[in-house]
Amino acid sequence: MSRGIKALVTGAGGFIGHHLVKYLKEQGYWVRGVDRKLPQYAASGADEFRLLDLRKLGDCVQATRDIDEVYALAADMGGMGFISQHHARILRNNLLISTHTLEAARRNRVQRYLYASSACVYPEYLQERPEVTALREEDAYPAQPQDAYGWEKLVTERACQHFREDYGLETRIVRFHNIYGPLGTWQGGREKAPAAMCRKVASAKLTNNPVIEIWGDGEQTRSFCYIDDCLEGIERLMRSDYAEPLNLGTDRLVTINELADLTAAVAGIAIEKKYVAGPQGVRGRNSDNTRLRDVLQWEPQVSLEEGLARTYRWIEDQVRLQLNRKLLASQRRAKARRHGTPDEQSFAG
Ligand code: NAD
Repeated sequence: MSRGIKALVTGAGGFIGHHLVKYLKEQGYWVRGVDRKLPQYAASGADEFRLLDLRKLGDCVQATRDIDEVYALAADMGGMGFISQHHARILRNNLLISTHTLEAARRNRVQRYLYASSACVYPEYLQERPEVTALREEDAYPAQPQDAYGWEKLVTERACQHFREDYGLETRIVRFHNIYGPLGTWQGGREKAPAAMCRKVASAKLTNNPVIEIWGDGEQTRSFCYIDDCLEGIERLMRSDYAEPLNLGTDRLVTINELADLTAAVAGIAIEKKYVAGPQGVRGRNSDNTRLRDVLQWEPQVSLEEGLARTYRWIEDQVRLQLNRKLLASQRRAKARRHGTPDEQSFAG
């Protein structure tokens, strides 16, 4: 059925987009990937990859030309550290990307359009305790998302609904709950909790320093969904006739302290947690999967233990490579000093 469908994945240089390109190719789609940057950790499997800035309508029109289906994943985003500090930038960039991609899809008569929304649309007042009630899709209203990131997602959900009603563009809306896996950002400030935890535990293991920092008291709760389940859920939703927003996540609630312990168990080390000030987001958040099961006749399958093990292995390799590179560089500098040759530091300033 998917054979011959021409799909556009926006954000194909990012974590979910990169995996989605590969997944759609395996299902027989022809795929165009678009992003402002190439994927960081592995070459894209797309038939065609274009570097475009989707804040610009002209670039969106180019991206959607001769396309049957759009998977709209591009966004200026990151983990809590990033989202809680860049409200104006996130709102401006993501509103431009979302509105222009939708409008270009309409002009180019795209048949189906899937929008990547987020659990961040849910109101803050339902997420004030760690032992939260899982969030149902209708709980998004009355609206009070915590951050500008969530407000933009909510507005674009509405835009999808109106483009469907007014222009006949078949839209699908998926609300991801904390997707994680290999080949995602793991350092630099945009990484999310599972990747950050894997990096901290891997560093603890490889440097023999068991102390890892946790933002807040670690009792804030979340549920986490492995990338393979996310991909299958996306395709099932796109092929369905369901046009309302749908949660896509697991409904296993864990504290950040438990996430740290599970990661340490995968790494095979004992850790010491040091609690430090840092952005924590809402106090608790879980996905109610009643409608997901009902609509897709399916729900995520990969356990947190299994998904974390796969993610941890990849991140430990990245941390090891980075530590080796730093060691080599410091050895080179020491050698240069011994031989009296100026190293790059001497030229600084
Ligand atoms: P990501 O940051 O890895 O990927 C997003 C990509 O969009 C990046 O490669 C970025 O370069 C690209 N992009 C940003 N601005 C652009 C522009 N102007 N033009 C073209 N490309 C641009 O994020 P991800 O984790 O892969 O998330 C994909 C989508 O899913 C996003 O819309 C995100 O909001 C949503 N989402 C993700 C999660 C999660 O847990 N990963 C949770 C909820 C929602």
